[in-house]
Amino acid sequence: MRTEHMVRQEANPPSDLRAWLTHLIGRGRLAIAREGVGLVDELAAVAKRLERDRAVLFPRPGGHEIPIVANLFTGRDWVADAIGVSEDQLLPRFLAAAREPLPTNEVASGPVQEVVHGNVDLLHQLPIPKHNERDSGPYITAGLLIARNPETGVQNVSIHRCQISGPNRIGVLLLPRHTFSYHRIAEKKGQALEIAIVIGAHPVLLLASQAIAALDEDEMAIAGALLGKPVDVVKCRTNSVRVPAHAEIVIEGRILPGVREPEGPFGEFPQYYGPRANREVIEVDAITHRAQPIFHTIVGGGYEHLILGGVPREATLLQHLRRSFPNVLDVRLTRGGTCRYHLAIKIDKTNDGEPKNVMMSAFGAHYDVKQVIVVDRDVDISSTDEIEWAVATRFQADLDLLVVAGALGSKLDPTSNDGISAKMGLDATAPIDAPELAFKRIRVKGEDQVDLAAALQADPNAAFARILAEVRS
Ligand code: MN
Repeated sequence: MRTEHMVRQEANPPSDLRAWLTHLIGRGRLAIAREGVGLVDELAAVAKRLERDRAVLFPRPGGHEIPIVANLFTGRDWVADAIGVSEDQLLPRFLAAAREPLPTNEVASGPVQEVVHGNVDLLHQLPIPKHNERDSGPYITAGLLIARNPETGVQNVSIHRCQISGPNRIGVLLLPRHTFSYHRIAEKKGQALEIAIVIGAHPVLLLASQAIAALDEDEMAIAGALLGKPVDVVKCRTNSVRVPAHAEIVIEGRILPGVREPEGPFGEFPQYYGPRANREVIEVDAITHRAQPIFHTIVGGGYEHLILGGVPREATLLQHLRRSFPNVLDVRLTRGGTCRYHLAIKIDKTNDGEPKNVMMSAFGAHYDVKQVIVVDRDVDISSTDEIEWAVATRFQADLDLLVVAGALGSKLDPTSNDGISAKMGLDATAPIDAPELAFKRIRVKGEDQVDLAAALQADPNAAFARILAEVRS
């Protein structure tokens, strides 16, 4: 299981957001909106309509000088492209990077600090859209929140929804993971947690931020490994956080101790609104940006949001499962399952009990995993039709179903009881000792190889007329 090491980048990946946009426009994948598209609802509507098709750049959004880009990924193939591998090498490459991270490289200055605003007015200085209908207002949705462990100085990178609560005030949702832990360490000492919110980084940095890494594993080092070179970082102007030197925009600030204010509702990945509640608050100290910056936004619950969370989670789940089950071949978090809750696992089964062990391991790997379907190696798990076929023909509910009551699940799942949730596993694999033809998939010999250009007539209209004429005569 060391084959991942042999995976090498086939192309030199672009190193910043501009390089990625240049790559996209060269391939007809970047639409340019007319000037002045409205920041409230309108911009998100255009981005959402294009989400499976093209990235889109909005000049002068809402009359603001700074352009906005959305849809940096419209599919898994674009994610593979961003790290310079073919789609089947995506998860192995991500795993190799997580295993051999490349620490950041500190530099004295960078374009992200070409302009410094000490006097902050967020909605005046940055074009911040409102996305879903019932969102409480404008949100920064594509910001990498970088925090330092107050005890070790190790940095963490994650994405959080950031509500604009005032000219220099942001309401932020911290789920109980790493930023949350760092904030609790600082808060116990009555201190604020120094942070930076980075907007407009290379898309690989956004991907790396979603790796299910351990506490005190710097996701920017995973990004460096994915890019094949360390990420250059500069020290913030008002605190000790290090930020990518070639990003577009940085918001410097502190998560305040002992302060909670209302945040939400906000349209989230399950396609529902995360509710309004009292949450942590960031006080902003400075904004730095390039001379002509580009702002990136992600429509909450849109395809970019799902993909961005899905691919890194798949890689981590695959790695976790392979520790115990080296015959796990591939995993997929399906789009209908919001790229979080429903996991398909392809195995090369060696024992009829094994799928249930694999399910239990998957439930333990991440609390978001709610339903697991285990299939055989002949099933294409990138197709939900194929997965459903496996359930239809290789699953019996009285024998092959595993239900676990009262486990930890996702708080954003509206059917969970404040995060208490059931798990369901479906063994859709064929029995090992089945007679040879019982579970043999039918196929037409030669279907894959047939040369349609040679098999079909070039002019069907003329051919059709000829055939009818011959029938009549
Ligand atoms: Mn982390």
